[in-house]
Formats: sequence, structure tokens, C-alpha cells
Amino acid sequence: MTFDRRIFNFAAGPATLPEEVLKQAADEMLNWRGLGTSVMEISHRSKEFMAVYEEVLQDLRTLMNIPDTYEILLLQGGGIGQNAAIPMNLMPLGKNGPKADFIVTGVWSEKSFKEAQKYGTANLVASSAAEKFNTIPPRSSWQLSDDAAYVHYCANETIGGVEFPDVPNVGNTPLVADISSNILSKQMDVTQCGVWFGGAQKNIGPSGVTIVIVRKDLLGQAMAITPTIWDWSVQANTQSMINTPPTFSIYMAGLGFKWLLKQGGVRAMEKRNQAKAELLYNCIDQSSLYENRVAKEYRSRMNVTFFLRDENLNAEFLAQSNAAGLAALRGHKAAGGMRASIYNAMPLEGVQALVEFMRDFERRA
Ligand SMILES: *Cc1c(COP(=O)(O)O)cnc(C)c1O
Repeated sequence: MTFDRRIFNFAAGPATLPEEVLKQAADEMLNWRGLGTSVMEISHRSKEFMAVYEEVLQDLRTLMNIPDTYEILLLQGGGIGQNAAIPMNLMPLGKNGPKADFIVTGVWSEKSFKEAQKYGTANLVASSAAEKFNTIPPRSSWQLSDDAAYVHYCANETIGGVEFPDVPNVGNTPLVADISSNILSKQMDVTQCGVWFGGAQKNIGPSGVTIVIVRKDLLGQAMAITPTIWDWSVQANTQSMINTPPTFSIYMAGLGFKWLLKQGGVRAMEKRNQAKAELLYNCIDQSSLYENRVAKEYRSRMNVTFFLRDENLNAEFLAQSNAAGLAALRGHKAAGGMRASIYNAMPLEGVQALVEFMRDFERRA
């Protein structure tokens, strides 16, 4: 398939980016700010790049309303890297040895839970595995430990399409939130968690940079075995530059933040995201061909999963949607079916086009 225009790309990550951001990057590619070079060809320690870097941090602070009591780290290795870094940095805070509690609501929190077992006691507090990860176990059923260093949860399960509507209350134990796929999609009160983390490639920019927002009093406890690059305190003390940072990804994330600010910030995005998700879920609920299997109150506004009741039509659905310029609707192989990822950069028009296609496909099916 070849196109002479931009398609609507529903990929889960790396994902679609705002056209304005891509255009600016293209315009600046050969000669950035009159330096006669691109931003990716200069030193990460140059005053020009450091100015970008400081602005990226400041804009993120503004967008998420991050207080000074929190450090922002820009790291590499993605959420998968943090699945190891988090226990290494935090588990020693356990009262009776390295230990953490886990809420497992899908593929991603399950991965975090398994990785943590290498570093200490990973305690499974609640799981919706028996419900095929189509729901979130009620808070009243969670048996939290009183000696855990932290409680880990995934705020939005990208594969199953399950999202916590609110940050759960776990008392005084620091909460660690995986926000890889819903960062900046809605207002979040940063003070409700000890740590927030996620890669940029879903809701912000290209892959390569991982954001870790950590409460400063949680720093300085890393296990002795922690590789230098994963030690949050070391990174906090070196402006996340203990090694060469992913400068181009950071610059692109910065353009993404400017774009978000111009759109009216997170509050405006939240409204837009709500409207997009409603449109798509309504289409699914009103149809007799499509179905969503997630408990209604936990449906993700970022990753809308759905199944065709007649799975023999899957291949045709994907072929026709692709031909119509509606790309990457195949669900993750762990879940099957379809998935439309509708992050911040997916315009309402994209979701409208998808809904129109789905209705038309159903009529013809
Ligand atoms: C994508 C994703 C990850 C993994 O991110 P990587 O950058 O590939 O390491 C972790 N958690 C969630 C919720 C994700 O969506």
C-alpha cells in the first residue's frame, strides 16, 4: 500500500505524532536555530542543548504540575528497563527486607511483577488474570502488606485496554504508577504517587527517552548491585547524563510538550480524549458486529480494544481498513481482536473516520 498523504495511524507505540511537530522537526533538521547543524549533531553538554533540556523539564513540570519535591529523570531502557530499576532503587525501603506489592491487571503489570522477583519478594496483592484481564480487582479485595517498600500498578494496560479511572489509595506506602500509555492524557495529581514512569513513544514523541518522576525522599536507597546507569540518585545528581542521553528523542519530546501547551495543556487533552473514546465506544456498543469485553468503568480512553463477533471477518476488516488509510488496528497477539490506540496526537477526525469505516464495514458484512 502506498499513500500520497498522511494516514490515520492507530499504532500502540511507537505511535502517531502531531503533524505540526513533525513539520517543525523537518524544517529544523539541517539547520537548527541557525547553528548550521541539526540538534542531534551537537554535544549534550553544549549550552544550546542544555537550554533545550532545561526547557523540556520545565514544560513537563508545568504540564503535569510537578512540585519541587519530585525529581524528573530522562532515562533510556523504557518501561522494561524500569521494571528492573524500580525494585533495585526502592525495594531496600522494605521494613523487613526487600519487598514490594503488585496489582496485576494485564500483560504489563504482570511483566513488572515477574521482573521484580529477581530482586526481592514480589507480593501479588490482587490479579484479574482469572477474568482475562478485563477488569480491575476491587480495592476492598487487595491484601496490602504492612512491610512493603512500595505498591506497583499499571495505570493503563495498553494491551487489554483497561485503565484505572483514579489513582488507588494505598495509604502511606509509596505508590509506583506505570503511565507509559496514558501520561499527559488526563489530569493526574502527582503527589498521589511516589514514582510515575513511562516511555515517550506512546503519548509524547518518538521512542528512546523514558520519563521517571520520583519523590526526592525516595532517592538514595538503591541496592549496592544497582548498575550505575540505573541508579536514580546518580542520574538525579548528573542531570540524567551519567551517559550520553538520547538527545534527539528529548528534543522531539520537547516539541511535543510545546504542542500540548499550545492545545491548552492536559486539561484540554483530557476533554478531547474523553470525546474520542466516547465516540468509538458508542459505535462499538451500538453495533451487533463489534464488542468490547472490558468492564465499562475500566475501559481505557487510550487503547480501545474490540472484537468482531465473527472472527472470520478479521482479515477482511484489517485489509479494508488499511486500504482506507486507517492503519495498525490489529490487536496485540496476546489479546487478539482489534485495538485502536487513540493517544493525544490522534485527532478527532481520525476517530470519526474509523467510526464511519466500522459502520460501513458492518453494513456490508
Ligand atoms: C509500552 C509499555 C511498556 C514498555 O515500554 P518499553 O519502552 O517498550 O520498555 C511498559 N508498560 C506499559 C503500560 C506500556 O504500554
